[in-house]
Amino acid sequence: MNHTKSEQIHEEALQHIVGGVNSPSRSYKAVGGGSPVVMARGKGAYFWDVDGNRYIDYLAAYGPIITGFGHPHIAKAITLAAETGVLFGTPTEHEVKFAKMLKEAIPSLDKVRFTNSGTEAVMTTVRVARAYTGRTKIIKFAGCYHGHFDQVLVAAGSGPATLGSPDSAGVPVAVATEVITVPFNDKEQFQLAMDKWGDEVAAILIEPIVGNFGIVEPNKGFLEYVHTVAKEKGALTIHDEVITAFRFHYGAAQDLLGLTPDLTAMGKIIGGGLPIGAYGGRKEIMETVAPLGPAYQAGTMAGNPASMLAGIACLEVLKQPGVYEEMDRLGAMLEKGILQSAEKHGVTITINRLKGALTVYFTNEKVENYEQAENSDGEMFGRFFKLMLSKGVNLAPSKYEAWFLTTEHTEQDILETIEAVDYAFSQLK
Ligand code: PLP
Repeated sequence: MNHTKSEQIHEEALQHIVGGVNSPSRSYKAVGGGSPVVMARGKGAYFWDVDGNRYIDYLAAYGPIITGFGHPHIAKAITLAAETGVLFGTPTEHEVKFAKMLKEAIPSLDKVRFTNSGTEAVMTTVRVARAYTGRTKIIKFAGCYHGHFDQVLVAAGSGPATLGSPDSAGVPVAVATEVITVPFNDKEQFQLAMDKWGDEVAAILIEPIVGNFGIVEPNKGFLEYVHTVAKEKGALTIHDEVITAFRFHYGAAQDLLGLTPDLTAMGKIIGGGLPIGAYGGRKEIMETVAPLGPAYQAGTMAGNPASMLAGIACLEVLKQPGVYEEMDRLGAMLEKGILQSAEKHGVTITINRLKGALTVYFTNEKVENYEQAENSDGEMFGRFFKLMLSKGVNLAPSKYEAWFLTTEHTEQDILETIEAVDYAFSQLK
């Protein structure tokens, strides 16, 4: 596969854009380096790079592109916004329609507010939880990603009773010490942290089904326990559903799990591919937000007509009967094919899958927490990633990311992907 033009553009990008990319995860640093493929256009489950190579895509732009590229219903909505005004700085009917759609799908949302990104949505839920409880500390789970604001770029201390330290240059120690990180799926460590800090904790920040060290479901009873202890201690529960909202069914992971968080943050899929975030929750908590209450949050672009119309259109596509069942069926087919090929070639893997999302770990361990995900062989994944790319299959360039199916993948795409996996595994050993 020829990548000459991609390489030329990346060389030029390096001179003008920091690291040549607008988000660090797009670089190939985590897969042994090299020039990232530069994409030109997409349609359905495929995209084409600037050299004309076609790829079956499982990155889905890190989750949002659940209806594939250039979906006609979403394209029509974006065109309407382009023609009738993309931004007014005033309320519009679209915001109201979309807020109602989200509330209908996710019952814990009494009130919502739109933002421009998942980061902004999560950041605001943290502020609102602090405003509502009058407390400052946050508990989060190791390996979960909640965006790039200061309070969540915090590394774990040496144990659950230890405060965090900055995980990025520029994050003040004073901010990091307000955050406690505990292992996911570990009731005991969570309880230890709550025993020590519970009365100071404003909120527990939870990815209810983890998407950021691969797809990891909570063990039975784990999140129920977290919710119960939080309530006992007067801390709020925040579900970060930026990846999970509308990924596994028409609604949020909280509904699949039978949980009712106090606050929920969303993003990615709900924008139909345009920039978006949203947060919402219990009425009396949301009423601490300006202009009703003292917690400030705002945005020039928030609730803009283009994102609203694209989001509405995306949810309309996802609401069609059978959409999620088909992604589940194809996901199962893909999982089976990858496992069979691994067995044939003697490659050790573990797959975590939930419906149309899966992660292939190069480990023989079960993966239930970040430490186990870390043990997945990164060097092996890097080689696998590049072999798949050479066969026209695009994955996320990180061993921690998920493969996302879309409504546009077909059985033929899955068979082609399994063939590529078979080739890659045959070369790995
Ligand atoms: N929360 C989760 C669970 C995410 O996966 C992400 C992004 O990957 C974010 C928050 C941040 O969202 P954004 O990149 O839109 O700011």
